[in-house]
Amino acid sequence: MTTGEPIAVLIVEDNPGDARLIRKLLDRTALKLLRLTAFDRVSAAVEYLCGQEKVDIALLDVSLPDTRAGSLDSLTRIKRQAPDLPVILLTGIDDEELAVQAVREGAQDYLIKQEIDEGLLGRAIRYAIERKRAEMALQESQQRYALAVSGAKDGIWDWSLEEDRIYLSPRWKAMLGFEEGEIGESPSEWLGRIHPDDLPEVRHAISAHLLGQTPDFESEHRILHRDGGYRWVLTRGLAVRKGCGEAYRMAGSQSDITDRKSAEERLLHDAFHDPLTGLPNRALFMDRLGMAIVHAKRRLSYTFAVLFIDLDRFKNVNDSLGHSVGDELLVAVARRLESCLRPGDTVARLGGDEFTILLDEVADVDHAIQIAQRLHHEMARPFQVQGHKVFVTLSLGITLGAGGDYERPEDVLRDADTAMYGAKGSGKARDAIFDRNMHDRAVALLRLETDLRLAVERSEFEIHYQPIISLTDGRIDAFEALLRWRHPGRGLLCPDSFVSVAEDTGLIVPIGWWVLHEACRQLAEWQSLPWASDALAVTVNLSGKQFIQADLVERIAQILRETGIRPGGLRLEITEGTIMGQAEDAIAKLLALRGFGVKLYIDDFGTGYSSLSYLHRLPVDALKIDRSFISEMNGGDDRSEIVGTIVTLARILRMDVAAEGIETAEQVSRLRALSCHYGQGYFFSEPLAGQAAGGLIQAGTSW
Ligand code: C2E
Ligand code: MG
Ligand code: MG
Repeated sequence: MTTGEPIAVLIVEDNPGDARLIRKLLDRTALKLLRLTAFDRVSAAVEYLCGQEKVDIALLDVSLPDTRAGSLDSLTRIKRQAPDLPVILLTGIDDEELAVQAVREGAQDYLIKQEIDEGLLGRAIRYAIERKRAEMALQESQQRYALAVSGAKDGIWDWSLEEDRIYLSPRWKAMLGFEEGEIGESPSEWLGRIHPDDLPEVRHAISAHLLGQTPDFESEHRILHRDGGYRWVLTRGLAVRKGCGEAYRMAGSQSDITDRKSAEERLLHDAFHDPLTGLPNRALFMDRLGMAIVHAKRRLSYTFAVLFIDLDRFKNVNDSLGHSVGDELLVAVARRLESCLRPGDTVARLGGDEFTILLDEVADVDHAIQIAQRLHHEMARPFQVQGHKVFVTLSLGITLGAGGDYERPEDVLRDADTAMYGAKGSGKARDAIFDRNMHDRAVALLRLETDLRLAVERSEFEIHYQPIISLTDGRIDAFEALLRWRHPGRGLLCPDSFVSVAEDTGLIVPIGWWVLHEACRQLAEWQSLPWASDALAVTVNLSGKQFIQADLVERIAQILRETGIRPGGLRLEITEGTIMGQAEDAIAKLLALRGFGVKLYIDDFGTGYSSLSYLHRLPVDALKIDRSFISEMNGGDDRSEIVGTIVTLARILRMDVAAEGIETAEQVSRLRALSCHYGQGYFFSEPLAGQAAGGLIQAGTSW
């Protein structure tokens, strides 16, 4: 074997610039290259080694300080995958210790990058060549044998180089959809059908073999079928030589590997794409993000941005129009997102209604915001899905990465996600840019969530009771049960600081059942006292999450049975939003509850979006006017007319009406003048612990 022997070199290279340098150096050596491949990640190189590709020698470049730390680990992994593969380690730093260790780990040679020259490389590679020589002799004889027996299924070709004619077997022609007489004997019948992108490589492989540089000819490429499509084929061949070594004939086989190729491609595609939208999936996105992080560390002027996108109220679409509409909408959204991006950007679907975008290179934060604006703008046109007109808005979080801002893709995504939550929190169809405070808030929220879970286990909740007064006679009509959390570190907490988290996590459901049970138990206790009015009631707030529970009616019936309160003693407060979102299902539940003597109040009335035509169909007993209207009933800027309208509305609908948040005597007299039936507020009493509330009952307090 001469120094012209071709070898396949695998380069694991963490810097594209250096890959080019090495390629140049190797080109200048007397050694011919069969294949030279650059990888930017060791994991990809290891994957490559697992494949069927032939690699004779690996160059592992670990010259960057931050990849150098993992270099020995990478070397070990490559060695495990391909124990016999000679590996040459390149490094930018002269590090004695690393050198010794590298050689011990199996690096054939340890080269300092600055010193790479033809001589050194040649020496390192010689070892590989010698070993290959023995292997090849063996392979050659095996190949001839394989060629002879493969004829049956494969097409055969026999090329007379001297006459420049090629024999193509009937099977060869049939493989491409042709009859025997339809293809002639010119070599162009073959080469002319090879895919233009693949042809140079095929030609190179042929001439390399003819010149004696390769032991055999082998190539996988695409070839044109009669139907206009391309088929993948594997073509193998051997030259027949004269005594002097000059080839005068070359013959071989061709087999159709289209199925294998497309299966491979499909598998590869599926592993990295979302089946619904065809967009890159999380794995592929993280991979690209990882590259962007590496790139940012290397090039100081490079900044990337990640947008985390969540569709607002997508669940509504799924719930109300069905999943097939939801799916189709996601696909349509994916296409519009794509249409806004530049060639180097990546849009991926993480799952559900969450999308992420990697903006490969942005000038500054304004640039990222500009692109976000374009996305919002693109969504503004309604989507037409299965005959439905659907409007979509996005909540969008943005984070930027430059220099050493980030180490891991997960961290970038976490921050963009946090920013997105910030955007959602400040109203839908918004953008938010990640900042440190957001991270702190997210951590605080997470802590709250954990504490809340523990609170359920440790029974840290209690109920305070606020009297609701009959404005006609000043006596206590009922108590509203208001949840309190005795937090071990923060003292007594009001629902505003934790109910929304409890709702987001679903913890509101078990907590809500506890409140309901405890409030009924308390009422039963009061009702058993001789001085309590028969009509005394409790009102309990019910969250939307709890209201949609399928077993709502049964559970409440059970609580009524267990606690034994008098019929009519329990009232539920539900907000307008909860009922309107549920329509028919809500009506059925409300009617069933009414059957048990449970009364229903609409809480915070006036702040939601009740439609009047709908309201009168609901089995509702009373409206509680939101306290914002009551607080505006003072002095000059009196807003009594709204309250008056609600009172009139309640009368027309034959409902009771209550006012909450009453703080002054003036408000009481105005409400009385408007004939509002009931009132509640600090003017009468703040919410009280159970015992103190019991004291009010015992004292027969009235106002
Ligand atoms: P809400 O049902 O509208 O309850 C009335 C709120 O107004 C209570 O706040 C009460 O303390 C407060 N309030 C009463 N009088 C006055 C007043 O004169 N002035 C002012 N400024 N405020 C007054 P709280 O107890 O902090 O509860 C807040 C909200 O948390 C409640 O609003 C209710 O929506 C929710 N909530 C309370 N307990 C529960 C519960 O057990 N389950 C569920 N799902 N939600 C609850
Ligand atoms: Mg309430
Ligand atoms: Mg209220």
